Amino acid sequence: MFIDTHCHLADPKLADTDAVVEEYLKAGVDTVMTMGCCAQTSEVGFEQSKKYPSVYFASGVHPSDSAGYNNQEKDRVIKIATDKKCVAIGEIGLDYYWKPYDKDTQIKVFIDQIEIANELKLPICVHMRDATQDTLQVLTEHKPMYGGVLHCFSGSVETAKIVLDKGFYISFAGTLTFKNANKALEVGKFVPTDRCLTETDSPFLAPTPYRGTVNSPKNVPIICDFLAKLKGIELTEFAKTVKNNAQTLFPKLKNV
Ligand SMILES: [Zn+2]
Repeated sequence: MFIDTHCHLADPKLADTDAVVEEYLKAGVDTVMTMGCCAQTSEVGFEQSKKYPSVYFASGVHPSDSAGYNNQEKDRVIKIATDKKCVAIGEIGLDYYWKPYDKDTQIKVFIDQIEIANELKLPICVHMRDATQDTLQVLTEHKPMYGGVLHCFSGSVETAKIVLDKGFYISFAGTLTFKNANKALEVGKFVPTDRCLTETDSPFLAPTPYRGTVNSPKNVPIICDFLAKLKGIELTEFAKTVKNNAQTLFPKLKNV
């Protein structure tokens, strides 16, 4: 009944994919969206989606990999994005946290992939880290026509309000459960239930009490439960709402 809308099954830390999938199915997670960080990891997601009925994928180039973006890389991203299980272009965006970074290249690659999403009528999965101003500017000047989600949202309530007004969804990860998560808690309470998504961003960001270990989609019920309690909603009902939200934003989730 749970959905993980953002994870990295192509990561070597989750290399025993059969075991990872078996574990999350056992934990009640029936739908998982694995992200591309470059053409190669997007293609791994494509292959995994063929092998596992519960796996869907996004195709795209992560801002931290934007230096490797060229016509050939772009063609590979587009080629698999027309697949029936490719639910989005992602993850794309801006990251000024990991240094060194090249702002101009990141912005160019981000805009180019928004255009791909618009041409293919797909939503986008957005990564925004230490780059709020520029990300909002790109999203305003190059509007994603089929919507999107701000994944692992780390912004303020004010920023959340701006992206919600633009029609975006906000996705919550294990960071919400961390001890110092005051800002995230405020945002968690603020975002309307019908605009919330849940994710693990695994293998990163394992939620409390598993912080510091290899994260996996099996932990998404912990995040969903935490957010449901924060909002004072019964877990089953909230999980159902989150699934509906995901199916509204990512129509291809219903297509298979
Ligand atoms: Zn990610």
